[in-house]
Amino acid sequence: MKEKHLKRLQQYIEEAKIITFFGGAGVSTESGIPDYRSSEGTYTKMEENRQDPKKIMNRRYIQSNPVEFFNRPEPERRIIEPNLAHKMLAEFEKSGHDIRVITQNVDGLHQRAGHRWVLELHGSGRSWYCMDCQRVYLPSELQRDKDNVPRCYVDNGIVRPGVVFFGENVQPENLEKTKTTIQKSDLLIIAGTSLTVFPANRLIYEFKGRRVVIINTEKLAVDQLNVDLYIEAPVGETFAELNRFYNFPIK
Ligand SMILES: [Zn+2]
Repeated sequence: MKEKHLKRLQQYIEEAKIITFFGGAGVSTESGIPDYRSSEGTYTKMEENRQDPKKIMNRRYIQSNPVEFFNRPEPERRIIEPNLAHKMLAEFEKSGHDIRVITQNVDGLHQRAGHRWVLELHGSGRSWYCMDCQRVYLPSELQRDKDNVPRCYVDNGIVRPGVVFFGENVQPENLEKTKTTIQKSDLLIIAGTSLTVFPANRLIYEFKGRRVVIINTEKLAVDQLNVDLYIEAPVGETFAELNRFYNFPIK
């Protein structure tokens, strides 16, 4: 990684008043969570098991086939931990930088790293809700019926993961909050995202601030943004190197 790139990243972070960190799957891959679409990813695994993710990860399917949905074979769950990107961002916040995380991930790793300002655009796997009455449940609180379907204590409705599935829309209030946050910030860091998915590929153009940084392993097409710094590298690795200038007590 080029030293001058890291120095500029440091300078931009230090000069900014409000920073939006807009992250995607690439922020978590170094924690061992494969991108949905990568060879080890959830959707690819489903396809290998002859399941069509578009058909199954879908509200209508859960409603009409709850037993199949909640008993489907799932890829092995590994223990995952925040990586140096999550940890560094949390350290920046702790040391007084107004750094706001907007993530397309549903793994909760930013919060686990201690970050206080996190918006989960696609919902959260740690918050489930009743499809009938919208009551919210923690995964540890779920009561399952004899068919292993989680049920609402009150109306026996199906309780599902609070993540945005295929064909579902991002919560309007999340969309709105993302827009206003991006509009208010003067540094936008886009990291670990292919920007191929709506609404991410539109939201970044709400930015009217001073500087844009992209940290990504592949080139992104962002024609309408003036990019000040492009770091073509993994996100965790970039922040690990950046810590040479800060020496936050993390590893
Ligand atoms: Zn309910």
